[in-house]
Amino acid sequence: MSVAFKPLAPGATLGVLGGGQLGRMWVHAAQRMGFQTVVLDPDPHSPAGLVSHQHIQTDYLDPVGLQKMATTCQAVTTEFENVPADALAQLATTMQVAPNAHAVAVAQDRRLEKSHFVNCGVPVAPFAVIASDADVEAVLKRADGTSLLPGILKTARMGYDGKGQVRVRHPQELVEAFKLLGSVPCVLEKMLPLKAEYSVIVARGHDGAMVHLPIQHNVHRDGILAMTQVWAGVCDSALETQAINAAKSIAQELQYTGVLCVEFFVLEDNSLVVNEIAPRPHNSGHYSLDACDVSQFELQLRCMAGLPLTQPRLHSSAVMLNLLGDIWLEGKLGEKLGSDPDLFGTNKSGSDPNFSPNFSEVLALPGTHLHLYGKGEARKGRKMGHLTVTASTPEQAHAIANQAATILGIAAF
Ligand code: ATP
Ligand code: MG
Repeated sequence: MSVAFKPLAPGATLGVLGGGQLGRMWVHAAQRMGFQTVVLDPDPHSPAGLVSHQHIQTDYLDPVGLQKMATTCQAVTTEFENVPADALAQLATTMQVAPNAHAVAVAQDRRLEKSHFVNCGVPVAPFAVIASDADVEAVLKRADGTSLLPGILKTARMGYDGKGQVRVRHPQELVEAFKLLGSVPCVLEKMLPLKAEYSVIVARGHDGAMVHLPIQHNVHRDGILAMTQVWAGVCDSALETQAINAAKSIAQELQYTGVLCVEFFVLEDNSLVVNEIAPRPHNSGHYSLDACDVSQFELQLRCMAGLPLTQPRLHSSAVMLNLLGDIWLEGKLGEKLGSDPDLFGTNKSGSDPNFSPNFSEVLALPGTHLHLYGKGEARKGRKMGHLTVTASTPEQAHAIANQAATILGIAAF
């Protein structure tokens, strides 16, 4: 049973489960509009906890923490799909929760996720569920089983940034990969010939109204999003319409409330396949803070508070570069900081803390917007921040992004 929905005005207190960078940017959006914020995250240094009015430092399933959330907030959302769906279900008995626990449970498990896509009539990569050694044997015996090879074995739950995935070329590698992943339930997906990767972010209100951000073209390196570019014409228009319609039907069929990101593959033959969903704002939508008149974080806030949704407008061509810990550890370090590096939020681990990537040279380029998440320690592959470049043309945005990448020691795109 969930409580009846009531629109909330600025001044109300809103909460988020999870205190990472997505929570931090949501806090910024909520505070800008005059809401009070509460973050629940066990980490005392969590990026969102550091900037929120209140920070409840407990585990996501701690009954005392959840009770405190329930008594302080009028509505709650999540910024992290691995937040236990049970925590959302429990909160939903006394307050408005968006997205609903069922939608989060579907996004948390690749098996449920894929059957949801199939139910929505949206094509997925050929796959098989592998939950036991017997399933491994059975899939290899199946007439079409080895046609899933070469493939990718992905844990059904808890994967992110390419973690919990092993590429498998032949039957023996599949047997070994299943062991390596701890014999937990997995899906084996056929490796597809990708021409490009795109994502679409939709926002759906309590009343079923939907708006979307423009389609985003994503480039991954080592299984982690490296760059997103967005402008009119970044994708073939027929594919774009197909992707937006698919994203909307996936949200509609979940009776979703909030911001949902749908990741797609475009194959060599130009067909569109859905990869996965994230029940929250997404890294590929960060450009919307600087290049759209409504950001994905403001959309999340509007959905949970029942404020009107307006169709976002892209006012600039945009390229977003992810700033991974690697550039603090291995990049061209040129700048002596004039302030405490911890306050700057970019202290390097294992090397001289007085140096930072050369952000002042980057910020001298027109249309650069630097976002750092306040994480104390740089680690390889850790998302420390992002840089969005906005410009009046795609060519300019792309050229300036590559200049910035070179300064930061990121290979050009
Ligand atoms: P994230 O959390 O960063 O979105 P993830 O760990 O949930 O990633 P996926 O999105 O499933 O993992 O896969 C990561 C990347 O691996 C994809 O963006 C794509 O580049 C590649 N990939 C995944 N599945 C396939 C496939 N079936 N065929 C080809 N490439 C794939
Ligand atoms: Mg993904």
